[in-house]
Amino acid sequence: MAGIYIHIPFCKRKCFYCDFYSVGAKNAPWREYIDTLLAELSTRAHELAGRPVTTLYIGGGTPSALPAGELSYLIDGVRDKVDMRLEECTVEVNPDDVTPALVEEYMAAGVDRVSMGVQSFSDAELTAVGRRHTAARAREAYELLRRVGNVSIDLMFGLPGQSLDSFARSVTCALELHPEHISAYSLMWEEGTALSVMRRQGRVSEAPEGLSLDMYALLCRKLADAGYVHYEVSNFALPGRESRHNSSYWSGEPYLGLGAGAHSYDGHRLRTSNPCDVKAYMASGGGGQLRESLSETELREEMIMTSLRTRRGLAPAEYGSRFGTEALARLQQKAAPCLAAGNLAERQGALVVPESRLMMLDSVIVSLF
Ligand code: SF4
Repeated sequence: MAGIYIHIPFCKRKCFYCDFYSVGAKNAPWREYIDTLLAELSTRAHELAGRPVTTLYIGGGTPSALPAGELSYLIDGVRDKVDMRLEECTVEVNPDDVTPALVEEYMAAGVDRVSMGVQSFSDAELTAVGRRHTAARAREAYELLRRVGNVSIDLMFGLPGQSLDSFARSVTCALELHPEHISAYSLMWEEGTALSVMRRQGRVSEAPEGLSLDMYALLCRKLADAGYVHYEVSNFALPGRESRHNSSYWSGEPYLGLGAGAHSYDGHRLRTSNPCDVKAYMASGGGGQLRESLSETELREEMIMTSLRTRRGLAPAEYGSRFGTEALARLQQKAAPCLAAGNLAERQGALVVPESRLMMLDSVIVSLF
């Protein structure tokens, strides 16, 4: 089994906090870009090594900005080239793009899950970070998208001007919609973004760290009370509604990433990355990948990092069978002080980071390297 990720790197407007690779959607070469994606798939389908494709994830950028008919053209093209036995087909959407016609097209194309970037249900907070929708528009879009299948809502915390109360209201609004899945991310102040420039100019300020921690704790509490399983540090789902595609990243399964800036992993050692440049990507006909063979150390670190992000945790037995008894002994030695300090716990034979310590996940991970 394998997954395919397709990157659509076009956005109608750049959000102030965003440092993902994306370019303007106005006059984007949509059909040429999709044809390049399909050409890339033709030349790289052998990397799937005959495995059936069980998850397809179309992200961005803004895939919902694709003109009518282009998403179906893309999915049909993929279906023609690989053994598709889809268990999940997700598209990321921006609330502003959702129309009855888009919903019809998604349903006909076989999309059964959408991930909608809502971020906040406060219009002032949305404006402060340059999002182009309003809370009312997000609700309307949600009602339309219900027909497609599972819906995931993205929220953000630590936004400029956001208080604990206003974040609590956003979480409540999200819960009132009963989505199957909620992802929540802390705002990152990346260098080079409009938001960082505004901070330097004194026009916005960063939320105090304590406030972001309180928001995360509130999020975990409210979602647990509502029956959501906290299955990955930033992801919550109703039982059985976890994202299969994203879960496969965290469990080290192979995936093929197509499009400018996309990454792939062969499930063993090989990571491949595409150029972060639409023009270069298209000029090369979907070629020009950089290939990197991961060292033993990188593979060990990757396993620690991805496993500890999840509720499933890091199974020492699996780690030992992959990297040997010496590596396992070193891991156990490093884990001992974390266990004693309560930053790690043992659950069903695996090492896990307790929910109350997830905000210090990065330092726990590094201490195990
Ligand atoms: S829509 Fe997404 S990818 Fe595009 S600018 Fe906003 S955050 Fe970045």
